[in-house]
Amino acid sequence: MIDFRYKALPWNVIFGVGAVARLPEELDQLGCRRALVLTTPAQSGDGRKLVECLDGRAAGLFDQATMHVPVETVRSAVAAAQRLTADCVVSVGGGSTTGLGKALVLELGLPNVAVPTSYAGSEMTNIWGRTENKRKTTGRDDAVVPTLTLYDPALTLTMPADFAAASGMNAMAHAVANVAPDANPIVSALALEAIGALARSLPVVVSDPGDMEARAQALYGACLAGAALGSGSTGLHHRLCHALGGAFNTPHAETHAILLPHSVAAFAQAAPDAARRIAQALGAAAAAEGLFDLVRTLGRVTALKDLGVRPADLDQVAALANPEPLSREQVRALLENAHQGRAPQPV
Ligand code: NAD
Repeated sequence: MIDFRYKALPWNVIFGVGAVARLPEELDQLGCRRALVLTTPAQSGDGRKLVECLDGRAAGLFDQATMHVPVETVRSAVAAAQRLTADCVVSVGGGSTTGLGKALVLELGLPNVAVPTSYAGSEMTNIWGRTENKRKTTGRDDAVVPTLTLYDPALTLTMPADFAAASGMNAMAHAVANVAPDANPIVSALALEAIGALARSLPVVVSDPGDMEARAQALYGACLAGAALGSGSTGLHHRLCHALGGAFNTPHAETHAILLPHSVAAFAQAAPDAARRIAQALGAAAAAEGLFDLVRTLGRVTALKDLGVRPADLDQVAALANPEPLSREQVRALLENAHQGRAPQPV
């Protein structure tokens, strides 16, 4: 019998090709006149274009956003916002830039507009993170959900194909984690729609990078996957990815792409109905195999050994992660399969 409670996050989303042109009037409606535009050094050009598009409503550009939101970067950005008397922040970029915008909200309480250009999905979550002395702290606070998120698929055209594929599989992992027997049914509905949109569009994004319809579908899938992550949860798969990334600095999105089919193969035995729904959304006969095939179609590496992980490292990861709902031996077997790049199988 269906029985649940669902509390929505305060999302405010505009989505469409060319949507970024609406930013000036949207800032006017928010009463903001002095935006601090945030971006990474690599996307400094995008930041400058946005400053121009704001037509006098930008106080300045801070283009030093970087992975994992280091506190030193947050301090520099806070100083820039105060020096420029900014009255809002506009983040244009991937999860790292959105993360810096969230950190500024926690420090300064300013309105926060996100203009996402990757599939990380952070803009749809209430999760914040920051890193101090190499230690990343994360938490949840509804205050960091952007005041407005403006998705413009045209801004994703510049994503290199390999990053688009990896970022897309990271979004896929956010969605898959939220189709579980104990998941909230509304969150699962968002997640299943995300899985279908990502599975259909990502191969086209990689094979035909200029296909705007595929870009729009992939960004839509990433938005919904972020929404599922924001109002849902993560499980063993994410704990394993964080353990690998933390101990061996494996790249975030690649680690997700390699482990996801194996995590799903392991959980499919205990949750056959959820696995069936994931497979159906993927358009595949079985969930784990469908995800494995998708990773291969996208041309991603399928073995942890190709990321420089050594067999001995697997014991450390198996010991680090809370193995629930698997046993340590099952987690070790799952990691072994992922290390060798084998087809996913039950453990
Ligand atoms: P990223 O933001 O670090 O981007 C990687 C590089 O790609 C950067 O140089 C960026 O400027 C560039 N880039 C992004 N979009 C581009 C585009 N369209 N064209 C050209 N270059 C582009 O990577 P990411 O994968 O987007 O985000 C990863 C980070 O986000 C991680 O730190 C992760 O922990 C965090 N994250 C947080 C949440 C959350 O809910 N808080 C959710 C997902 C990810």
